[in-house]
Amino acid sequence: PTIVAGVVNIVSERAPIIMSQGSNETALVDSLIANYNKGANVLEKKEATEKKVSEKPEFPFYDNRNGAKGIITWAELANGKIARPSLELLTPARHLADQLGDDTKIMTLLIGKNVKDQAQILFEHGSDEVIVVEDDKLEEYLVLPFSSIFEQVIKERNPEIALFAATTSGRELAPRIGMKTGSGVTADCTGLEIGEYVNRKEKVINKPILHSRRPTYGESKLATILGFVYPQISTARAGTFEVPAKVEGRTGVISTFAPKLTKDEFKVEILQTVRGEGNSVNLFDADVIVSGGRGTTSDGLELIKKLADALKAQGVKAEWACSRVVVDEGFSEYARQVGQTGKTVRPKLYISVGISGAIQHIAGMKESEKIIAIDHNPKASIFHFADFGIVGEYTDIIPELTERVKAGFT
Ligand code: FAD
Repeated sequence: PTIVAGVVNIVSERAPIIMSQGSNETALVDSLIANYNKGANVLEKKEATEKKVSEKPEFPFYDNRNGAKGIITWAELANGKIARPSLELLTPARHLADQLGDDTKIMTLLIGKNVKDQAQILFEHGSDEVIVVEDDKLEEYLVLPFSSIFEQVIKERNPEIALFAATTSGRELAPRIGMKTGSGVTADCTGLEIGEYVNRKEKVINKPILHSRRPTYGESKLATILGFVYPQISTARAGTFEVPAKVEGRTGVISTFAPKLTKDEFKVEILQTVRGEGNSVNLFDADVIVSGGRGTTSDGLELIKKLADALKAQGVKAEWACSRVVVDEGFSEYARQVGQTGKTVRPKLYISVGISGAIQHIAGMKESEKIIAIDHNPKASIFHFADFGIVGEYTDIIPELTERVKAGFT
């Protein structure tokens, strides 16, 4: 891959590291130098009098957007409905549009069979324009035609930012589009901001630039990755952003797009779709999550499930979840995994049982309003993140808790 540049600000005392994203480096570097040369005399004089490099240098600013404008998002469908992570995406999209100003619009691409009616949901959550591509052959997500459609829309509309939810399909689609458009992708972001890049070497300031923030080094650091090639593409971690509040009756522009698709793009045919249990698991909407770790596998998480059921029977929106080890050992579907490589959840109450508190697990549940940790090891790191801790055998504690829930939280 070709490299432009990219800066990572590690939020810690450590030195910044450099990461890369993008292509077209020759054109960019040429323009940077040209821009630098324009202001070089002034800058050189200034440097001669000022020995110290000022914190906020007044370098000329450089914008290589080439007219790129607007933000495009993808409305992914799950069981024919707009998936929640695609609605969540409209929160950072609106934030970025506001930061960019200049009447920046959010466009959302909606692809499928008879999907036009769903545009209203997108408008009510913040899209300004919904670009609809309808075709019977596009009922199910297929990476080849979907990435081709995206490429064509991007070439026509020239957005400066493209955002995808970091779902299984989003993680597959975004890099293909990055490759097709000669850009790059910052994956799995938890924060998106508009900022600038002070290039001290070339003595220019690039702006406005997308600052994509994402955890790195096993969630122990936060990196800010800057993209210099347009569209700047990022995927956002599902569950990180709230779905924007619905504005009843808000409308926008519906446009249709007729892509040129070849036979080759349909060489993969879906013969049958078998939906697993994972499809019906909704950890995002649960108020209470009872989560079991390796410490609860001796009974195959039965006690965990019973507690979640007892809560449900009391009318609580409860679900059970687990750590990665539990999935790896085959006790649960991946859909219930919480953590860096699983789901990011933020329930009102997270009950962690027999989970040691590895940083990768914490990454997915630390935003919970209240955390209760149950573990027989008083030194387990989970207790550092919990509001309440119970030290003991889960086989003693969970049945008692379940009985109390059944008795109406006595
Ligand atoms: P353990 O660390 O083995 O902890 C088990 C706990 O149960 C211990 O604290 C123990 O004291 C307690 N216990 C045992 N028996 C009992 C009992 N009878 N009663 C009460 N307590 C008991 N992990 C995730 O969870 N989610 C992720 O998304 C994730 N992504 C990862 C990504 C990467 C790149 C890597 C490298 C790792 C990832 N991991 C993830 C794995 C993570 O590092 C840990 O290995 C994992 O979270 C540990 O799971 P655990 O806490 O269930 O098991």
